[in-house]
Amino acid sequence: MKMKPKRPPIPPERHETIRRQIEAVLEGNTLSARDISVEVGISEKDVYDHLEHIHKSVDREGGRLIVTPAECKECGFVFRKRERLKKPGKCPVCNSESIAEPMFTIAS
Ligand SMILES: [Zn+2]
Repeated sequence: MKMKPKRPPIPPERHETIRRQIEAVLEGNTLSARDISVEVGISEKDVYDHLEHIHKSVDREGGRLIVTPAECKECGFVFRKRERLKKPGKCPVCNSESIAEPMFTIAS
């Protein structure tokens, strides 16, 4: 088993750098917010905040954030129209809380 080095806490002024890191790990990879949080060393909540910004800004920078929407594992309902990227709490169709996480990738 490979041990990852411990990462220091991230001060707010590093936000831009973090965003670049997230974009870098997403290029050519399809990852969930949880995967990204492990890669970059920030909380899932922060990952979603950054993804919202990347979602809005990446177009004009030449890349493209592609979102695979969350999906209900019980009935297969797809959360296509969700404006927020965050994983929904429960399915509006069958009320199941078993929801597959949205996945993210950047194609350049
Ligand atoms: Zn469902």
